[in-house]
Amino acid sequence: MRVHPRRIQEIRTGNQDSGPVIYWMSRDQRIKDNWALVHAQDLALHLSRPLRIVFCLADGFLQAGLRQFDFMLRGLHECAGVAESLNIPLDLVRGEAGLVLPAYLEKHRASFLVMDFDPLRIKKSWQKAVLDKTGIPAHLVDAHNIVPCWSTSQKQEYAARTIRPKIHRQLEEFLEDYPDVKPHPYPAQAGTGVDPDGLLQEMDLDKTITPVRWLSPGPAGAGEVLDDFMAHRLSLYHEQRNDPNMQVLSNLSPYLHFGHTSAQRVALQVKKQLDTPVQSREAFLEELIVRRELSDNFCHYNQNYDNFQGLPAWAQKTLDKHRSDSRDYLYEPQALEQGLTHDPLWNAAQTEMVKSGKMHGYMRMYWAKKILEWSRSPEQAIDTAIYLNDKYELDGRDPNGYTGIMWSIGGVHDRGWKERKIFGTVRYMNYNGCRRKFNVDAYIQKWI
Ligand SMILES: Cc1cc2nc3c(=O)[nH]c(=O)nc-3n(C[C@H](O)[C@H](O)[C@H](O)COP(=O)(O)OP(=O)(O)OC[C@H]3O[C@@H](n4cnc5c(N)ncnc54)[C@H](O)[C@@H]3O)c2cc1C
Repeated sequence: MRVHPRRIQEIRTGNQDSGPVIYWMSRDQRIKDNWALVHAQDLALHLSRPLRIVFCLADGFLQAGLRQFDFMLRGLHECAGVAESLNIPLDLVRGEAGLVLPAYLEKHRASFLVMDFDPLRIKKSWQKAVLDKTGIPAHLVDAHNIVPCWSTSQKQEYAARTIRPKIHRQLEEFLEDYPDVKPHPYPAQAGTGVDPDGLLQEMDLDKTITPVRWLSPGPAGAGEVLDDFMAHRLSLYHEQRNDPNMQVLSNLSPYLHFGHTSAQRVALQVKKQLDTPVQSREAFLEELIVRRELSDNFCHYNQNYDNFQGLPAWAQKTLDKHRSDSRDYLYEPQALEQGLTHDPLWNAAQTEMVKSGKMHGYMRMYWAKKILEWSRSPEQAIDTAIYLNDKYELDGRDPNGYTGIMWSIGGVHDRGWKERKIFGTVRYMNYNGCRRKFNVDAYIQKWI
């Protein structure tokens, strides 16, 4: 067996049927560098069974529309081709997993189910629904985090400073190179494959938000973006990552979100890049590993990761105290969505997200904090920010998104600052602060 045993949770053991091992691919949509698939293959080899991959396509998923499904299905199409070349068929099944997967497993007389870990409630509920309706032995593999979420910590962490040592203590053990998925020796019936254009036409989707074309979806696209980042931008990351005009960020978040690449592969590559300044490598790895895995920790252990109840007690108290403070500006979600505020910097950030599908990381903080300042209540602010983020960002509907919004609006993983109107002691950001950091006019001009 090639996968670290602490990366795997044995959900259920028991009698096996006579058919293939099934990897239910969900969060980690790639063939190479995927611990869940490696584990599924190990089980299939051990049992001398064929191996299949299944993906369940639900039409509606947390505000995702044409933009996100286009990116995802083109990536899956690439995966199906690679898997097929390894004698591992990939089936795409339409419908919610809880409703369609039990019948699929039955039809194939599946012997074992391997699932990839996702801390979001909806994914956990799909997995539970499938397991409740079948008796199949099942394993859950954390193929997304470098240090498996449950191994890093068994509770919600307070902040980056508390999770950092826990991750670093185990990093050497888990940050190992991946074994290859081998051509599978046991033959299986052909899979359905994935026809992105046909599916996009048939699906009942919000088609008003168009796909983005400046990033090529899929694992191959992810590899190109990573190579380009390491060659041209990584060395500038330490000094310029907070300047939205410089665009030195990696642009890997859409690929990490859909699992087209793994954070572990990215970290292995960046660590080898010894000709770039060490501060840049370290600053990038801090975001990629510590901050990203902190988000998974938050969503896994806090059931209220997307609402006011999930905020730390001090933040709930201070926001409650300032609930009825007067607002200089109040905007309804529709006005925000259309970028119709008095603040051209905020409107530019909103437009960047609407047009490009990816707002610069620094602007995301400013954007969310202003939504708090201009909304009737912190609850409305959280809902509006999540609605917009999930609808327009290519990397939306991700633990990083929920955690970033809860950090900005409600002090999650942060501490108290100077008390002021509306925010209480939640950290504040303003236009003049941005002006001191970067050329605000150039950014506005670019997007408006
Ligand atoms: C209000 C708000 C909303 C956000 N929404 C999302 C979202 O929907 N999806 C998303 O992936 N990220 C989100 N983030 C986190 C962060 O802004 C993005 O991950 C980053 O801007 C993505 O661009 P990049 O890959 O080019 O970043 P890079 O700076 O190149 O970072 C590389 C990777 O490190 C991780 N990372 C970077 N910054 C953070 C962070 N602050 N927290 C956690 N992980 C981080 C991401 O996986 C990112 O892809 C949000 C942050 C805030 C404040």
